[in-house]
Amino acid sequence: TPQRTPDPQTGAAVKAADRAHVFHSWSAQGLIDPLAVAGAEGSYFWDYEGNRFLDFTSGLVFTNIGYQHPKVVAAIQEQAATMTTFAPAFAVEARSEAARLIAERTPGDLDKIFFTNGGAEAVENAIRMARLHTGRHKVMSAYRSYHGGTNTAINLTGDPRRWASDSGSAGVTRFWAPFLYRSPFHATTEAEECARALKHLEETITFEGPATIAAIILESVPGTAGIMTPPAGYLPGVRALCDRYGIVLVLDEVMAGFGRTGKWFACEHFDVVPDLLTFAKGVNSGYVPLGGVAISRKIAETFEHRPFPGGLTYSGHPLACAAAVATINVMEEEGVVEQAAHLGATVLEPGLRELAERHPSVGEVRGLGAFWALELVRSKETREPLVPYNASGADNAPMAAFGAACKKRGLWPFINMNRTHVVPPCNITEAEAKEGLAVLDEALTVADEYTV
Ligand code: PLP
Repeated sequence: TPQRTPDPQTGAAVKAADRAHVFHSWSAQGLIDPLAVAGAEGSYFWDYEGNRFLDFTSGLVFTNIGYQHPKVVAAIQEQAATMTTFAPAFAVEARSEAARLIAERTPGDLDKIFFTNGGAEAVENAIRMARLHTGRHKVMSAYRSYHGGTNTAINLTGDPRRWASDSGSAGVTRFWAPFLYRSPFHATTEAEECARALKHLEETITFEGPATIAAIILESVPGTAGIMTPPAGYLPGVRALCDRYGIVLVLDEVMAGFGRTGKWFACEHFDVVPDLLTFAKGVNSGYVPLGGVAISRKIAETFEHRPFPGGLTYSGHPLACAAAVATINVMEEEGVVEQAAHLGATVLEPGLRELAERHPSVGEVRGLGAFWALELVRSKETREPLVPYNASGADNAPMAAFGAACKKRGLWPFINMNRTHVVPPCNITEAEAKEGLAVLDEALTVADEYTV
C-alpha cells in the first residue's frame, strides 16, 4: 500500500490543527496530547517521526483484520467508483449482500438486519424494537457494562461514563452480572457466582414488576468493563428468565462479535440465541462506520404490517456495506475466526498466565480468543486495584507509568482503569503477538514498583 513518508513538519502541522479545532471525545480538551498518526498497516501504525507501534488495541477493538487489508480497501474503492451512496429505502447490491452474509452467520433465526452507523445507534434501535414489541417500557442492564454514548445507550451503560449524562432513569434498572474475581455476591466458585447472579436477577425482575420490563441487555462477554467471560450457565439462565417473563433478550456484541472471541459471535460459546443482537466494529473492521441489529423472526413479525418508527439517513451506506462484504469474505478465506481462537489458546493465554505468575502486579488474567484483560493490583492477596476506581491525575500515576513504558518500547496498550486489555487484530501473527507480550513483560516491572 502507498504510505506517507514520515515527515515531522507535516506531523507538527497536523497536531497544531487538531489542537486548535478538533474537540475530542471523553476528554478534557486542555489535558490531552493526541499522537499524530501518519499511517497504518496490518497490526502496526506509525507517527510522523518514524516511531512504529504494535497495536494491541485494534483501534477501539474494531480492526479485527488489521489496518489497510488490500482486499477491503479495493472493495471500498470499487464501490466508490460504481455507487458511492444511495438512500436507505432502495434495494442496493452491497447492502443486500452484507445483510445476507451477516444473517447467515448470526445464530438461530436472527435473519433480518437493521443497519446503523455504529454501536450506540444499534443499541438505541434494539431497545426501541423491544419496547414496541412488548408494549412495555423498562429496560434492565448490568453494572460494569458499556453500551454507547447516545442517550439511551449511555443510560444503559454501567460504568462512570454514564455518571455525568445520566438522565436519571429513562426507564432503566441496573443489576449485577457475575464477576467472580470481585464477586458482588461474595461467591467463591464460578458455579456459586452463577447461581447467585441468576437469583439476584430474578429477584430484581420480581420487584421491578415483570410485566413492565421490555428488555434485558447484556454484553455476551462484557468488553470495556473488563472482559469478564460469564460462567457457562449464566447466559442460558438469563435466556430462561426472559422466556419465563416475556422479556426480550438483547445481547450486545458490538465489541465481542465478528470473530473477537474465536467464534463469529460470543453468544455461540454459551449456545444462547438472543431475540436481538447488536453489532458494529468488527463487521467491517471499522473501515467505514457501520453497525446494526440482527432481528429474530418473532420480533421481525411485529413490524410486518406495522411500520417500524425509526431510521437513519445513512442506514446501510453502500461504502460501509461493501467493506462489510469484503471483510466477511476475507475472514472466511483467511480463517480469521479460527485464527483468533488459536491465538488465544496457544499464544495469548499461556503467555499472559506466565506473566501473571512472575509479576506481583498482575492479579488476574481472563478472556478468550483475541480478547484478554490483565487486572493490575497493589496486592495479589487483597486484590486492591493498582489505581482507585475511576482514578484520574496523580491517583492514576501507576497506570500512566505502565502505559508510557509500553509506548516507549513500541507497544500501544489498551488501558481502562486498573486494567490493560490485550485486544490485538484477530489475525496478528504469532511473532507479533510474542513481540507484544515481551514488551508487556518489561512494562509490568514498572507496574510492579507500585505493589505493596
Ligand atoms: N456496545 C458495546 C458493547 C461497545 O463496546 C460499544 C463501543 O465500544 C458500543 C456499544 C458503542 O458503539 P459505538 O461507539 O460504535 O457507538
